[in-house]
Amino acid sequence: MTEEMKKARKLVAEARKILVFTGPGLSAASGLPCSGDIRPSKSYVQGNCSSALYVPVSYQQFVDSTRHKLEHWKFLYSSYPLYKAARPNAAHEVLVSFEKKGRLLAVVTQNEDNLHRLAGTGTDCLIELHGTWLYAECLDCFDWIPMDEVFENFAKDGFPPLCHCGGWLKPAPLMKGEELEREFLIKAFKAARDCDLVISAGSSLRAEPSSSVPLAAKAAGKPYIIINAGTTAHDRAADIILNGDAGQLLPELLS
Ligand SMILES: [Zn+2]
Repeated sequence: MTEEMKKARKLVAEARKILVFTGPGLSAASGLPCSGDIRPSKSYVQGNCSSALYVPVSYQQFVDSTRHKLEHWKFLYSSYPLYKAARPNAAHEVLVSFEKKGRLLAVVTQNEDNLHRLAGTGTDCLIELHGTWLYAECLDCFDWIPMDEVFENFAKDGFPPLCHCGGWLKPAPLMKGEELEREFLIKAFKAARDCDLVISAGSSLRAEPSSSVPLAAKAAGKPYIIINAGTTAHDRAADIILNGDAGQLLPELLS
């Protein structure tokens, strides 16, 4: 065990209300290397990250144009099997154990892959800032429809999906240019104020405003541990940096 890990484990041992912020690196061990990544361009072929370029449709383009709706739904449909097949890994599971011990205040995630929920993280504890692949949302009545049902229909007619009210459906994962749910952000920043330790795992902490959540905890005087393979935008603010795979290091830190 490294000296940095020993120091980090000491901080964890002293904390009682821990906020864990998670990003795409946490799901890498579950086979989702691009999960939750909302860069302006992505590489996908039939649900797998590859060299072919997919430029995501923006929220405004999606709302304005049937052609863009169809393009975006086709892309999601091709990626869906990868998300359906993904299973939680040891990092998701250790958070569930930690929650059962009563020491986890909240899991705030950038990931849209549903793996925290699938592992058993409680709904009171989980804040999915970038939405979830589980549902589509109606642009008119705001009802949520299970994605399985939406894709079943899409596979039959190949038409941009509609709600039972006749309104257009939008996938619940956050789109480029779409604002985060204000209610989720408020809850996440409240957790940043209330925690006594913040850990960011598997995020380069460059997507905003979600990445401001762990930074707000640090600004409020809470110790800040960062786990990531590679540099992050918050490295200068961190008390301890554990460089490596979050899927391995988070279980080592919390077990
Ligand atoms: Zn509707």
